[in-house]
Amino acid sequence: MKNIAILGASGSIGQQAIDVIAHHPEHFKLVGLTVGKRVDEAIDIVERFNPEIVSVQHEKDIARFAAYDVKVVHGAEGLKAVATSSHNDLVLNALVGSVGLPPTIAAIEQGIDIALANKETLVVAGELVMGYAKKYGVNILPVDSEHAAIFQCLNGESKRQVKKITITASGGSFRDLTRDQLETVTVADALNHPNWSMGQKITIDSATMMNKGFEVIEAKWLFDLNIDQIETILHKESIIHSMVEFVDTSVMAQLGTPDMRMPIQYAFTYPNRIEHDAPSLDLSEVMQLNFKKMDLDRYRCLKYAYDALKIGGTMPVVLNAVNEVAVAKFLNQEIGFLDIERLIEREMKAHQVIEHPTLEQILDIDQQYKSKEYEV
Ligand code: NAD
Ligand code: MG
Repeated sequence: MKNIAILGASGSIGQQAIDVIAHHPEHFKLVGLTVGKRVDEAIDIVERFNPEIVSVQHEKDIARFAAYDVKVVHGAEGLKAVATSSHNDLVLNALVGSVGLPPTIAAIEQGIDIALANKETLVVAGELVMGYAKKYGVNILPVDSEHAAIFQCLNGESKRQVKKITITASGGSFRDLTRDQLETVTVADALNHPNWSMGQKITIDSATMMNKGFEVIEAKWLFDLNIDQIETILHKESIIHSMVEFVDTSVMAQLGTPDMRMPIQYAFTYPNRIEHDAPSLDLSEVMQLNFKKMDLDRYRCLKYAYDALKIGGTMPVVLNAVNEVAVAKFLNQEIGFLDIERLIEREMKAHQVIEHPTLEQILDIDQQYKSKEYEV
């Protein structure tokens, strides 16, 4: 029996993880969870799974749990309390944004393994997080489908024999539009992802291709690769989740229907596998797998992510923080779609990089760029 805590249980990944746990009560027990503002969701989960601890974003919501035998905490400290609760064998970090960084580090310091969906944690502090994981002997198990694919392809292989990895990208909502057409797209258009149903922020990140940029940075730290070993390719069917080429030119790929419950479950059962009731992949029904070269002029956010990774230090922190602010503004209809990349480019150009930042410096820069007033 594995005791699991879920940070961000009300989100898209969080709910799919709850579904995985509900299907296998003989393997998994939910011992802790956090939600943001969706308290009804948390109450429902508490009734179904009887966890030990729950955290809500706002203190005023604590009273809503008076009728239940569960410890209730709140805010940033609440995230850490759930992440470090003593009965956890594994913490699934399914928070969105860099808010996921402090509880991840807190759990690592307690020697608790992490199933990581929250890619922003590795974007802003990949070097630090992987360093801590090594120091405390903790596994960081990727949930992102591309990284779960690479992780599976690398199973039993030697890292020294990897030539390169290829991360696949569906292309997001606007894959068939030109840059001119992108000037006038709406929030509703952007939220209409062709292959995956996900939280709003990652759906916009997929449309700008920042999501792929974040995944390049995530892969660098998870698999300890050089930047020139990490390629991306457009693959609109989202059937090949990613690939690894070895020094002898042999290529291994992991395939499956687009269903996040599979990588979530694998992170929960690693190194074992258990049954999963999703339909099997039927390639005779898919018929065709298409691929297209990635164009960094078309997808500027992907280029900025490669740039930020090359420059290093606090640059990826700025990339992420300005992106979080810009995506929120776009969702709020305060700025246009292409203003997202314009803001990021401008702020990256002006940033004075701190090399090898400490955790405090990372959190400080993150806060600075999130609280800044931006003119477009
Ligand atoms: P989501 O928006 O659906 O859910 C995010 C969760 O985080 C919610 O429970 C929300 O309440 C919580 N949260 C957000 N801000 C918070 C705060 N300040 N304090 C406390 N809680 C807060 O997002 P999602 O689509 O589930 O994505 C979660 C993470 O997983 C992201 O980093 C995303 O990039 C990654 N990811 C998602 C998918 C997917 O299919 N959804 C696939 C791969 C990776
Ligand atoms: Mg992904």
